[in-house]
Amino acid sequence: MRVLVSNDDGILAPGLRVLEKAARSLSDDVWVVAPETEQSAASHSLTLHRPLSLRKVSTRRYAVNGTPTDCVYLAVNRLLAIHHPDLVLSGVNRGSNVGEDVTYSGTIAAAMEATLLGVKAIAFSQVYEDGHKIRWATAAAWLPRVIKRLLKSDWPRHVLMNVNFPDCTADAVKGIRASSQSLEEVGDLFDERVDPRGRTYYWVGMARAEALPGRPGTDLRAVNEGYVSVTPLHLDLTHSVTLKRLQASLR
Ligand code: MN
Repeated sequence: MRVLVSNDDGILAPGLRVLEKAARSLSDDVWVVAPETEQSAASHSLTLHRPLSLRKVSTRRYAVNGTPTDCVYLAVNRLLAIHHPDLVLSGVNRGSNVGEDVTYSGTIAAAMEATLLGVKAIAFSQVYEDGHKIRWATAAAWLPRVIKRLLKSDWPRHVLMNVNFPDCTADAVKGIRASSQSLEEVGDLFDERVDPRGRTYYWVGMARAEALPGRPGTDLRAVNEGYVSVTPLHLDLTHSVTLKRLQASLR
């Protein structure tokens, strides 16, 4: 099994090393292609207006001066074009990717790109509280079994898996739970400040999902209750109930 590992926190991120190690415990054909710099919240952006380079860092490790999507695109279409990866693993992201995070996440976008290119993909994130230590050991301990269990269960084309590890010790994790994407977060926090020249500027994106309990059955509730959350995401974003209603009303 050929495995490609990517992320959105960049080639130097500790979470990438954690995922790489887990991948190597499952396969001896592991490749890493990750962004040169942090690309969190880059979503599914593709770099169109400047050239990209695929810089070799060490054996089977490369850095791209672009987004997570650029990384997977170049890895699959150029670096591993002759023998495509069988699996793309993205992460482990520093911080959760639940609920509306899914639409901003570069970690999930790397898995989306792989899915579009016909490669099975899983995105991983480690939940943590701002200002606290990140429990990478929890992700490290649970990664191999989560990957094995998911590969055994299989899933259709155009679907990817979004995995979040809870913010507790590996021993305290209660198990793995299949959950839906929550949609109850509010991303309305920002910091307004004044620069030395008297101009107003803003910092956005400070809202923390973990402050909310999450509705039963959702990714947010699962990690809050100490479970590894697994959410299958579909690239087809069509809302079928509304589509049916529209088809009737627009006739
Ligand atoms: Mn990130």
